[in-house]
Amino acid sequence: MSTSAAGVVTGLLATAGAQDYLGEPVTVLDHLLQAGSLAEAAGAAPALVAAALLHDVGHLLGECGTAELSGEFLMAGSDNRHSIRGAAWLSGWFGPEVTEPVRLHVAAKRYLCATEPAYYGLLSDASRYTLTVQGGPMTPAEAREFAALPFARQALDVRRWDDQAKDPAARPPGLAHFLPLLALLAS
Ligand code: FE
Repeated sequence: MSTSAAGVVTGLLATAGAQDYLGEPVTVLDHLLQAGSLAEAAGAAPALVAAALLHDVGHLLGECGTAELSGEFLMAGSDNRHSIRGAAWLSGWFGPEVTEPVRLHVAAKRYLCATEPAYYGLLSDASRYTLTVQGGPMTPAEAREFAALPFARQALDVRRWDDQAKDPAARPPGLAHFLPLLALLAS
């Protein structure tokens, strides 16, 4: 990772510290650090730890690439775009092993709602709400298509850490802990 790329990624994540995470009891930065930490604790490959850490950067990017997070904007139905926008932005530095789980993490929620009856019950109220603007549970045909995608399994892993990473009492390591890993992966 070049110095400038490291600066851009960490600069964007730093803005996340002050941002509430749509209806959840943690900031976006807390949420992302918890997700990365859960991936690390699960023994995930470095690329998947990075994907977990960075999965919601799309929430921090405005239409023109400026940092932005508006709950009203998200509630208006744009939440299904954050995964695509985040993955596209990250592709400037990272390969598909990082960007694809990010791009697919919203689809993974729709997949799990369709294929695991108990999964919907695990979602937070805010996450249930956004499901409605993300297309709802997949149809059986959509679920088959999703399961056949490269990185589908990794996207499901990110999704489960995402769902768990909303604990106001968690004390994950700071961003500095993850910088060597990002530096190794980025080009
Ligand atoms: Fe998330």
